[in-house]
Amino acid sequence: MRHKPIKSLGQNFLVDQNIRRKIITALDLKPADIVFEIGAGRGELTGLIAPNVERLFALEIDRRLYSLLIERLKIYSNLTLINRDILKCDLNKILEENKIESEVKVFGNIPYYISSPIIELLINQRGVVKEVFITVQKEFAKRVVALPGSKEYGSFSCFVQYYAIPEILFQINRGCFYPLPKVDSCFLRLRFRKKPAVSVKNEELLFKVIRAAFNQRRKTLKNTLKGKVQSEKLAEFFLKNNLNSNIRAEELSLAEFADLVNSLN
Ligand code: SAH
Repeated sequence: MRHKPIKSLGQNFLVDQNIRRKIITALDLKPADIVFEIGAGRGELTGLIAPNVERLFALEIDRRLYSLLIERLKIYSNLTLINRDILKCDLNKILEENKIESEVKVFGNIPYYISSPIIELLINQRGVVKEVFITVQKEFAKRVVALPGSKEYGSFSCFVQYYAIPEILFQINRGCFYPLPKVDSCFLRLRFRKKPAVSVKNEELLFKVIRAAFNQRRKTLKNTLKGKVQSEKLAEFFLKNNLNSNIRAEELSLAEFADLVNSLN
């Protein structure tokens, strides 16, 4: 059966055999692993994962691809195909329904436009997720792993790094996909921390301050945090941490943001 890729669903299929092998190696599959695949597509990777793990749940939003997958992969009795939108899924519930108690590895060659909502969803469900392996746009991957002082560093870097240790495992050139996307990709791994990277009294406030600080990243913190943080508190914070009072958000580490937020009442 031929399937015409649907652009609006981000259907760019990974056709490069070497990269497929590289991904399977990176997943470091173990016989006891429970894997959750997002966007199984035509099932090439699904078929490489299934024989090597205990259970595989594979999600595919496209009805026609879902039917194709059922037909193609019916030999795998440990595979559960699910015709659903990842953004409407509760992993915890799916695992509970299937009486699975161990944490899962999540893998996906996911559409670029839902990279951040998927990461947010997985962060919210990190209680049942051991590791995440996803293909994302190269520029996006760089933002996720960026450290203070780089131009890619921003509120999303802080958000992800607060909960996880992200690492770019390798680059995947656009030529490895069909149809050819306009951008290159990276294969990204997120390992969730047992505890957040820094300890704060008020998480919500931490991210509120971080977002405000990066909202106009060319401006100084003094300006961007006006109305959010009392100016005396900010002055005290600069003094205590030996920071220039004209610094901007991109120069502040997560630990420093935490320190600032903890000094507020
Ligand atoms: N993993 C396959 C397909 C990649 S293309 C491969 O590597 O070749 C991305 C796939 O995600 C497509 O099959 C698309 O239909 C599916 N998809 C898009 N949005 C989705 C969503 N919200 N939930 C689940 N799957 C989705």
